[in-house]
Amino acid sequence: SESAIVHPPVTKSSKLANVCYDIRGPVLARARQMEEDGHRIIKLNIGNLAPFGFDAPEEIVQDVIRNLPDAAGYTDSRGLFAPRKAIMQYCQEKRIQGVGVDDIFIGNGASELIVMAMQGLLNTGDEVLVPAPDYPLWTAAVTLAGGTARHYICDEGADWMPDLADIRAKITPATRAIVIINPNNPTGALYSDDLLRDLVQIAREHKLIVFADEIYDKTLYDGATHTSIASLADDLLFVTFNGLSKNYRACGYRAGWMVVSGDKRHARDYIDGLNMLASMRLCSNVPGQFAIQTALGGYQTINDLVKPGGRLARQRDVAWELLTDIPGVSCVKPRASLYLFPRLDPKIYPIEDDQRFILELLEEQRVLLVQGTGFNWPRPDHFRVVFLPHEDDLRDAIGRIARFLDGYRKR
Ligand code: PLP
Repeated sequence: SESAIVHPPVTKSSKLANVCYDIRGPVLARARQMEEDGHRIIKLNIGNLAPFGFDAPEEIVQDVIRNLPDAAGYTDSRGLFAPRKAIMQYCQEKRIQGVGVDDIFIGNGASELIVMAMQGLLNTGDEVLVPAPDYPLWTAAVTLAGGTARHYICDEGADWMPDLADIRAKITPATRAIVIINPNNPTGALYSDDLLRDLVQIAREHKLIVFADEIYDKTLYDGATHTSIASLADDLLFVTFNGLSKNYRACGYRAGWMVVSGDKRHARDYIDGLNMLASMRLCSNVPGQFAIQTALGGYQTINDLVKPGGRLARQRDVAWELLTDIPGVSCVKPRASLYLFPRLDPKIYPIEDDQRFILELLEEQRVLLVQGTGFNWPRPDHFRVVFLPHEDDLRDAIGRIARFLDGYRKR
């Protein structure tokens, strides 16, 4: 009979053995289940703007609608010409030199291109320097591609700036590249030009490719400005990532891009590989591509949200003040992006397993966060807070975190 057939277990590929992406991991699964059971969960876990009432600029929404009838066909695998021209212009504004349309790849979000850039480069044993903490897709993409992520420490005591000595100490003959996430997720750090120049110098000395994730480059507070690291040299290979998800509050449009710049002459073979990978997935989602030109060329509504008194700026201030009022909690004030990465004093909160800690917070207080080790932070003493909810919800959520921590201390 049929039931006599013994099916071997279907297991995931060994390529996935060490790949980890905790932002959408087991704690989120538990939160979903609690929601199905009828509980309201306050979510401070994902940098997704739309559910919190941050609307995409109306002109780009209308653009997508208007162009939908023309978006049914495949495009060039790097993307439509007009948005790539607009990205080219944006590179000129950011002083990234020598970028032509063919150096620009549009993708289904920066995420797809990050994975593609690693798949196209790495052989087993190759090493990539990745920040700790990081946006964990980077570590996952390196690992999936067969490489090894070597984490360099960003120094909380120095406003989360990369520790240059640690970077140097972690370079080996197998190191191919360095990943720089600036502005940073999860720390909210924004790097100075001097620091970027030091990073360029290290990359130059060790012939490293620079992968620059700059997806928050317009989400800047206190009048800060952003420098693209690729604007600081033309003798290294740079691949710069950006997109509409954050600066234009259009995560769901899945419209991102990567720009190859600098010393491209020595990278023809790699660029061939990138073109092949782009062709294999035919092209990125075309309706999303139509939003890019108008987004880059239009009024930059993000500026209204990040200026003093703007909604994002206010929420950052409120969240930072309330969190740092909690005994044993400290936090570097973010200068950019959508996140806070507070530290729990281990003497007061002796946490051994921060995923369990976050799960207990969820069960007890119905607040969802992501644990610091989910960002490849080496110790269980941090968590990430997304400051997207309205002020009242933030006050409610952080009040709950404070109550949970109060109980935790008294255990
Ligand atoms: N890079 C960083 C630093 C991010 O925080 C994110 C999303 O949170 C991404 C890349 C992915 O963005 P996209 O929506 O373009 O795939």
